[in-house]
Amino acid sequence: MRNAAILAFFLCAVLPCFSQNGQEISPNRHKIKVTPDQIQSTNAETPLQKSAGTISILKPIKIKFADEVENFFTLALNWLKTPIETKAVNFEYREKRRGKWGAWQKLPIDQHAEEESIMEVSELRQIDARVRFIQLKIILPAGVEIPADLNINLFNPVIAPQKSGAMLIKPIEPELRGCPCPLPGMVSRQTWGAPRPCASPGYATVTHLIVHHSAGVNTSNNWAQVVLGIWDFHVNTRAYCDIAYNYLIDPNGVLYEGRSGGNNVIGAHFCNTNTGTMGVCLLGNFQEVEPTTVMLNKLADLLAWKSCNSSIDPVKNSVFARSNTVLNHISGHRDGCATECPGNNVFVKLAEMRSKVASNIVACALTVATQNPTIVDYTIDIVPNPAQHSFRLRLSSGANISRLELYNLMGQSINVPYNLQTLEVQCGHLPRGTYVLKITDTAQRSIAKQVVLQF
Ligand SMILES: [Zn+2]
Repeated sequence: MRNAAILAFFLCAVLPCFSQNGQEISPNRHKIKVTPDQIQSTNAETPLQKSAGTISILKPIKIKFADEVENFFTLALNWLKTPIETKAVNFEYREKRRGKWGAWQKLPIDQHAEEESIMEVSELRQIDARVRFIQLKIILPAGVEIPADLNINLFNPVIAPQKSGAMLIKPIEPELRGCPCPLPGMVSRQTWGAPRPCASPGYATVTHLIVHHSAGVNTSNNWAQVVLGIWDFHVNTRAYCDIAYNYLIDPNGVLYEGRSGGNNVIGAHFCNTNTGTMGVCLLGNFQEVEPTTVMLNKLADLLAWKSCNSSIDPVKNSVFARSNTVLNHISGHRDGCATECPGNNVFVKLAEMRSKVASNIVACALTVATQNPTIVDYTIDIVPNPAQHSFRLRLSSGANISRLELYNLMGQSINVPYNLQTLEVQCGHLPRGTYVLKITDTAQRSIAKQVVLQF
């Protein structure tokens, strides 16, 4: 017997459905409002039983989308926040495939929002494409009602085939401010099928870089679909204007463009204190598995670009203005509020990540400093190195040096007094740390050397 839910479920397949801003909703997305007539059974038919709490099981929902499901579809619940405490509600769901129901699985309520939202939501689940029915169980403590406007959100993340047949990596010119580190190439929003951007994105100077995990699946045949599934969860279930993260990285080390708007656009990922942050999501659950090396390398490249671009020292900390607490410039989500994110296996590697980002900046500064493809026929040593108040260049032959330039780890040029006769550089006024010295001779050949200042 078809009930109202099933009817509603098919409506978008046969009629054009429109969202609030007038755009057509794909029939690959269904928002099913839970109504009393969908309850198949409940353990509490009498007021006395109800006072002890109720368990209600909804009628099974048949899975049908306009397009065939490839790999997975997503499931999440949402409802409007009300003054009534609804976080005491427990949800479970089960899946039917090949005619057999699986075990009931928990579908926990997401306990904190990353920006002000009118919605309460469950966690996001990716359901195997072979599942034909799902069923929801609602467990209510005594005195708690089923949330008003409870919706079951189902989404089939279909990405239109690319013209080239392959994922396009978007070349993006870094906004260079003396910064030598490039923004890595990435899969554009268009390529992973982002339906729309925020109408009016906000911008702020970034001071802190926040690492997340998706807490979702650890394997996928199509990570772009996973990104699109997260977009749908953030926009259509959480009611954010766009995907929360600025960037996402899959276990193959592929970088994805996140929230639209480009550099310094404000996301929705950090404990409702997003201004001044850039959020990067590593796709996977790093409470359960280790992040891959290629994924961490891409993260280091991305953070090196941003540290350099926004003059953020990757190994230091500072007061984070939005929460007035001291925060490492590269932090995990859990440094801001109670969450497992980015998972223990990533969190314990953040100290190493900070050093790696710093050395990546040195590496790209060295590359830029030596980009004149010339090989000099003499050697240069810096003595002493580490240096304190000054250091000197020692050349193997009588080459003529015409210019010295010093860079910090954010790629900024630092003014230092030097003497071309004695080849001595005064550095006593600089903070301790690692620097890159670019040395150019009268034949306009350049090489670069790393200098460490220690006091
Ligand atoms: Zn997070």
